[in-house]
Amino acid sequence: MSFSQIGVVGLGIMGAGIVEVFSRAGYQVVGVAESAAAVEAGKSNLTKSLARAVSKGKLTQDQSDEISARVLFGENFDLLANCDLVIEAAPEILSLKVEIFSKLDAAVKPSGILATNTSSLSVTQIANATSRPAKVIGMHFFNPAPVQKFVEVISTAHSDPEVVAEVIELGNSLGKHLARISDQPGFIVNKLLLRYLNHAVQILDSGQASKEQMDAAMREHSGYPMGPCELLDLIGIDTCVEILKTIHADTKLAIDEPAVGMVELVSSGKKGRKTGSGFYDYSERLDAPTDSNEAVKSQVHNDLLIAYLGDCIAMEATGYATKADIDSGMKLGCGLPEGPFEVIEKMGIEKVRSAQAELSERTGVVAYQPLPL
Ligand code: NAD
Repeated sequence: MSFSQIGVVGLGIMGAGIVEVFSRAGYQVVGVAESAAAVEAGKSNLTKSLARAVSKGKLTQDQSDEISARVLFGENFDLLANCDLVIEAAPEILSLKVEIFSKLDAAVKPSGILATNTSSLSVTQIANATSRPAKVIGMHFFNPAPVQKFVEVISTAHSDPEVVAEVIELGNSLGKHLARISDQPGFIVNKLLLRYLNHAVQILDSGQASKEQMDAAMREHSGYPMGPCELLDLIGIDTCVEILKTIHADTKLAIDEPAVGMVELVSSGKKGRKTGSGFYDYSERLDAPTDSNEAVKSQVHNDLLIAYLGDCIAMEATGYATKADIDSGMKLGCGLPEGPFEVIEKMGIEKVRSAQAELSERTGVVAYQPLPL
């Protein structure tokens, strides 16, 4: 199958980024959102991102104009009729996605592939809302979509292997690294990332460390591009709460229950950068958080890192994902400088296991215990 026209539904943080990925690669793109205001916001997201690329010398003004000219924006799903692939990037709410897929099924030509950018929801349940479940898959881009190179391709029991292969080929042609996985809550990266982010807010809620201490700790001790509270603000705290609810419904573990600090911010409308504030206030440009309390930073760094490495070991042990895909996902999807198995290799597995046992004993959280050998 050759892809020429790509549709994107939902034009927020991710949808606008996915529009940019495909229009930059030369595809005709149709971007649809539910209201004129949402379409305008999507257009403005794309315009701002392209203007940044021009100002950094990554694109010429002519290239930017050509990219914009390849995109048609609108509110009507009928605009998507001739798309070969439509990627949905609407809010992380199952009932909303089910409704959108039923509308897409009616609007898009029968040969069109329908993909969801969901971070955690059941692709199978979304596929069941259509008359073409064999042509429905997950295509999970990372934020910012034009920058992060990793894409998770989620197949269900219904998925046609040819459809999956075609989408993987398309993703590779965009210069992305694709990992194929089955339909489990949070897939590879979000299952690991969201538990780490939630852990950070649980520490914050308990008063053991400030957001600046945690953010500085992960930047300075592990070289992460941003700390957990900064990253929550970038992703959108509302989206993170929804992903955690899905993961928690599956695992039933207290460590996956959305931390109170996050839920309260969402209730007060502070969803992160997209609303102007979250853990931090974005009314003016912020410097990277710093803190001089080395003892607290060292402790939270240890606790966040060890719990996360334990989760990575457990994920690989279940056979859900390979070490290579987990390492690629965390590096190319989240911009981490090293994959978790590279970190484990450097630290030595015995040191990681004894740190897991110490963390579990000190906190009383059984899930932090090392796996039996
Ligand atoms: P967002 O809130 O920034 O954007 C959501 C968009 O969907 C908005 O444009 C909104 O107007 C539109 N929308 C709402 N209702 C709609 C409807 N009925 N029909 C069409 N459009 C509708 O959210 P986001 O962060 O871009 O997340 C979108 C999806 O991508 C979610 O499933 C999320 O889990 C996933 N995702 C998010 C990130 C991230 O870092 N934010 C990363 C990867 C995947």
